[in-house]
Amino acid sequence: MRYLVLLLLLSCKTSATVTIGVTATADYERPTKAAMRLWNSFVGCDFFVPGKDVQIKSSDGTGVMLPEHAAATFQTPRGWEIHVSYPGDLHDQACIIVHELGHVLGLQDGAPFGAMSYECPDFIRIRDDDVAIVKARHCK
Ligand SMILES: [Zn+2]
Repeated sequence: MRYLVLLLLLSCKTSATVTIGVTATADYERPTKAAMRLWNSFVGCDFFVPGKDVQIKSSDGTGVMLPEHAAATFQTPRGWEIHVSYPGDLHDQACIIVHELGHVLGLQDGAPFGAMSYECPDFIRIRDDDVAIVKARHCK
């Protein structure tokens, strides 16, 4: 019985100390919510919340777009913007947004696997190293 209680405690999320507000246009609302949930559950607190710090929308050609990139993330005077240019399905869009939100968190490209690699596997995951960095900054 004591072990059961311990397991329940370990699975509880802690509170967020620093939150980041994210909003998306209607066409990216579902993959954005999925991406926020994925980050929050891997990291262990709800630090991505609805709000205006990061705006996610379709690429309108005004952002810096590199060839063969599915999206671009950059800072503007109004906050972060993620412009998605790849028209993939819900899973692909969620995977792309998970990756781009990683850039908002200061994570770099080129991880061997996980959200900051260039892969979109069936099961999207965030590496333990990245989780530790984000958790220290955003959760109690
Ligand atoms: Zn990237």
